[in-house]
Amino acid sequence: METISIPRPTIIPRSEHNISRARISANAVKVLYRLRQAGFRACLVGGGVRDLILGREPKDFDVVTDARPEQLYKLFRNCRLIGRRFRLAHVQFDREIIEVATFRSCGEGSDSDNGCDRHNVKRATDGRIIRDNAYGSIEEDVWRRDFTINALYYDIENFAVLDYVGGFIDLKAGLIRSIGDPTQRYKEDPVRMLRAIRFAAKLGFHLENDTEAQLYQVGYLLRRISPARLFDEVLKLLISGNAVYTFELLRFYRLLGWLFPGTENYLQKYYQHQSYQKTLLNEALVNIESRISSSKSVNPAFLLAALLWEPLKMQRQVLHANGLDDSESLRVAADMVIQEQSRLIALPRRYSLTVREIWEIQQKMTMISGKYPLQILSHPRFRAGYDFLLLRARAGERAELAEWWTNFLSLDEVERAKLVRQPVTAKIPKKSRKAQTAVFQSQ
Ligand code: ATP
Ligand code: MG
Repeated sequence: METISIPRPTIIPRSEHNISRARISANAVKVLYRLRQAGFRACLVGGGVRDLILGREPKDFDVVTDARPEQLYKLFRNCRLIGRRFRLAHVQFDREIIEVATFRSCGEGSDSDNGCDRHNVKRATDGRIIRDNAYGSIEEDVWRRDFTINALYYDIENFAVLDYVGGFIDLKAGLIRSIGDPTQRYKEDPVRMLRAIRFAAKLGFHLENDTEAQLYQVGYLLRRISPARLFDEVLKLLISGNAVYTFELLRFYRLLGWLFPGTENYLQKYYQHQSYQKTLLNEALVNIESRISSSKSVNPAFLLAALLWEPLKMQRQVLHANGLDDSESLRVAADMVIQEQSRLIALPRRYSLTVREIWEIQQKMTMISGKYPLQILSHPRFRAGYDFLLLRARAGERAELAEWWTNFLSLDEVERAKLVRQPVTAKIPKKSRKAQTAVFQSQ
């Protein structure tokens, strides 16, 4: 008779880990208990468990159970079933959503006798998993998770942590290790490459040797991800408290070129001349980090405008050489750069419009005489445009223009009106007068 070995977890009892219910969101605890009372198995899994063990504040709490989506729908009044690729339940509380997923199996070698249905895992011909709705047991669920540190289960039954893959040790050692063969896991879902980088930057962890070695080899797989999903993942990566380091890792693992080829091309050229630390892009990443650390809002369009600024300039130069004037070259180059980028990463229209406006304001801000400055001031994106100009100045671009605008903004309305009605050269402080002539040249 054939014997099937069921993997046994290492059980880390409550006395040997630091997860207390007081640190789990009250809503997640409610969901866990409700499931258990209804006779289901219920665990916390993923980033919530990982971050609690590390003593960090989890971003969200994911619950996993043996209840099927339809059963969850019956059990929770405040529940919505979502997702096609990966069907799960959202249990909605006031301001918090608790995501509840049913244990998945990887769908291979399983049959309908044991409750798994391999037909519910759909793969593309290149091995990518495009639907993952084969339900299974916790022992199966663990193998389809990405990294060992993300595969720890906190069981509400006895408050123990269940570890099937050595995640607890990896967590203590600061290691990101793929569960199973990294190449195959990246092929199944290339987004895992970006997740590896996101966690390395966020947690300050190292990638385990094999997990790391494969990253250099398979960046091209990113081209297989839909542009819409890639946009979400790129935002998660870069709109973070670790934007600078994340960006460095993307470059280091040669992934940036698959996401933003124009930007990577520019950086490769630029590196030969001066330090990347001085680029506008780096200034934008530093700016994001500091805004996040002081709980200010971050506009993704601002970062996108910075990421694509150099490709835009390069494109404009070509168009200029072909005889297009300043505003025409900007308009056409913006179209080209945004279109080209959107083929890889779908930029939602509300963002691409703002990107374009931020760029256009850079052009408009070079006109600092007569009625123009007061007109630009009332542009709805003026503030973003001005902030962008300040970043450019910090990167050594158009510092004198930024200085002029900073001065202009510090004046009251009467003074501003006076300033722009006069010939501009008469009003620029002596030390800036030389630079002033440059202001009128196109950027
Ligand atoms: P975060 O702190 O960003 O929420 P997280 O690890 O919780 O990190 P989620 O996207 O919330 O990330 O996913 C929850 C869990 O689901 C992960 O910890 C992991 O176990 C699993 N998971 C998510 N995305 C994937 C993926 N692409 N491949 C395999 N497992 C995944
Ligand atoms: Mg999470």
